Amino acid sequence: MLQDGTKGFCSAAYLEAVPDAPSSEKGAWMPPVPKEYFALSQTYLNEDWTLYPKFGHHTGVDYGGHGKTGIPLFACADGEIVYRDLASSAWGAQLGNHAALYVPPLDRSFLYCHMASEPHALGPVGAGEQIGIMGNTGTSAAGAIHLHLEGFYGRFMIAERTFISLEDIKKKTFDADAFIRSKL
Ligand SMILES: [Zn+2]
Repeated sequence: MLQDGTKGFCSAAYLEAVPDAPSSEKGAWMPPVPKEYFALSQTYLNEDWTLYPKFGHHTGVDYGGHGKTGIPLFACADGEIVYRDLASSAWGAQLGNHAALYVPPLDRSFLYCHMASEPHALGPVGAGEQIGIMGNTGTSAAGAIHLHLEGFYGRFMIAERTFISLEDIKKKTFDADAFIRSKL
């Protein structure tokens, strides 16, 4: 309405919604598992000297499958699968079928472990794109089907995963669950 009381109208075609997120945080984020499974069954750096005798702490976060099979795993953001390997490989004995998603704008990576399926091929993926199926391949805790997800600073390289101490773990990794939740 103008000051003299005249009413005016504007076509929505000329209006643009302004997102309130800062431009540096643009891009869609998705939970790495379907919503009903998006709850931690084990937290980041949880202390457990039985399961993790070397440094006594869980290096990632776990989402439990609650006994279900065939649960899809999703790319949590637009990025690129920069590394993948199978359960039959040297690292696969521990990590099962696994793949790392690199998210360039944030220079962080997400390592998805213990997949039932072969991971998505190397190359670009979009947020929400399926990159595997939840499983219990490798040394999966108690044999239960779950996603073990590790957050790494930078573009993931498997050599980085040779941790030498708890301090080293803290320096290289972050709480992937807390980080993804902060973006949703
Ligand atoms: Zn785990």
